[in-house]
Amino acid sequence: MATIQWFPGHMAKARNEVQAKLKQVDLVLEITDARTPEASRNPMMNELVGDKPKIMVLNKQDLADPNVTAQWIRFYESQGTAAIAIDAQHARQLKQIPQLAKKLLHEKIARQQARGIRDPMIKAMCIGIPNVGKSTVLNRLISKNIAVTGNRPGVTKNQQWLKADNSFMLLDTPGILWPKFDDEQVGLKLAFTGAIADNVVNPDDVGLFGLNYFQQRHPDALRKAYHATATDIALPTPDLMVHLAKTNGFGDEYNRMAERVIFDARQGKLGRFTLEVPNEAE
Ligand code: GDP
Repeated sequence: MATIQWFPGHMAKARNEVQAKLKQVDLVLEITDARTPEASRNPMMNELVGDKPKIMVLNKQDLADPNVTAQWIRFYESQGTAAIAIDAQHARQLKQIPQLAKKLLHEKIARQQARGIRDPMIKAMCIGIPNVGKSTVLNRLISKNIAVTGNRPGVTKNQQWLKADNSFMLLDTPGILWPKFDDEQVGLKLAFTGAIADNVVNPDDVGLFGLNYFQQRHPDALRKAYHATATDIALPTPDLMVHLAKTNGFGDEYNRMAERVIFDARQGKLGRFTLEVPNEAE
């Protein structure tokens, strides 16, 4: 599989930028994809954030298995990290973020109030790998489309503060923080959910990875979507791919079936799914 290397220069640049911005905020919102809560994290994140208050924001919960999302929330909380699950497409769900932030920072807020500041301002920033939904969260929180949505390096180059309300302010998101590309499993998970470009990992491998996951975890979804029997589902994954290609109109072109599985999973046609459960996490 093709991998993208972490060049020391890139790492240093990202690290410096995040560290500089961290100094200016009270709180970090680490945004991840609820379908891949660990694979969609930057490997330096824990170290970078250090003991700065943080909320793990499991975004895209509408696509993830709700039971597993609840397990992840409990997992992070058991490690002493606040965590919530949201669907950033719905502004209403985002209201939890400032509320939880105020709860986490209550001591600091109380100190400022004691000094006569009636409505102390909380300063936060969204951080995370591309495509987890940072811009969407930011846009929704500030309820005006000031930030530009999209995975384009450099769009938020010049630092700016964005006001969510009278007591919550966001610093624009720092530049690109990459996932752990050198881990093959991470690459497959991110490719399957569409978090990384389709040409980074071989699509056949991604399709087989996804089909195998659904065979193990959600066989009924495969049976329903692709008219497969329980006996079909029990086939070795490559044989099942070849079989499904035939029975779903792709003939011998099993690679087109692989693309179909990827497409359907991303579209939610195979139901809500989560590729990682907490006790499998590193
Ligand atoms: P960024 O690169 O981290 O800033 O990610 P974006 O905010 O650009 O979002 C990447 C893609 O995910 C966009 O197509 C968004 O519409 C989509 N997206 C963001 N949040 C959610 C969510 O909660 N649910 C779903 N289904 N899609 C989302």
